[in-house]
Amino acid sequence: MTPVFICLLLLSLSALPGHAVDDEVMKEVSSDVSLTISRVNSHATTRLIHGDLLPNTNKNADPCTATGCKWPKTGNFVHVPVTISSQYTREEQNIIIRALLTFHQSTCIRFMWRRRERNYIYFYSGSGCFSYLGRQNRGQPISLSQRGCLYLDTVQHEVLHALGFHHEQVRSDRDEHVSILTQNIQPGTESNFEKVQTNNLETPYDFDSVMHYSNYAFSRNGQPTIIAKDDPNRLFGQATRMSQNDIDRVNKLYNCCE
Ligand SMILES: [Zn+2]
Repeated sequence: MTPVFICLLLLSLSALPGHAVDDEVMKEVSSDVSLTISRVNSHATTRLIHGDLLPNTNKNADPCTATGCKWPKTGNFVHVPVTISSQYTREEQNIIIRALLTFHQSTCIRFMWRRRERNYIYFYSGSGCFSYLGRQNRGQPISLSQRGCLYLDTVQHEVLHALGFHHEQVRSDRDEHVSILTQNIQPGTESNFEKVQTNNLETPYDFDSVMHYSNYAFSRNGQPTIIAKDDPNRLFGQATRMSQNDIDRVNKLYNCCE
């Protein structure tokens, strides 16, 4: 039985300063976050690892959140400066902003418009949906292509990478929960399934995580590449937004309750 993580948070429902958020915002949920990302990234012109991660210049093999890629907490909040490219329409910017506000509603992360901060995230429409893992000590991109990445779950997924989180199916204890069917993996994409020594923050393996890829991720033949050990027929990777475990992990990693 996993202990329930309870945290009282100061809710800040106000929009990022300087931007009004339209309430009636378009279709925000993709049908399958991992397929959305892999489909869009099949056209990416940028070298990516693990499907949608920019190769980190930090070669440390340790989980980077233990070695300095967390965003700093000041007082009760973790302020993350952002900019959003003007190449997006107002509607597209609002999809991103609304996704950022979901972190305000459930965690101590607070996205702020960048002024002069050295470390910040800039959202732009590149050739796919991708991010660095964790903070990079400089301005760092999150690419959300206008052609296919502008969904609530996809934005949350890429932002979680930038906050330091890896894919659920590569976490250190995944072999207890899933089997990887290597015979069905598209040649050349095997590295997407390599395990990582993640800090799991005492949270359970979560098939409903927005960071979990689907059964058919990187399949070469329409057969599953990942199956659940407890139920081979279980469908996963269908999250349409952050799960409670995703939220708990942010709160734990960033000590939001302290
Ligand atoms: Zn990803």
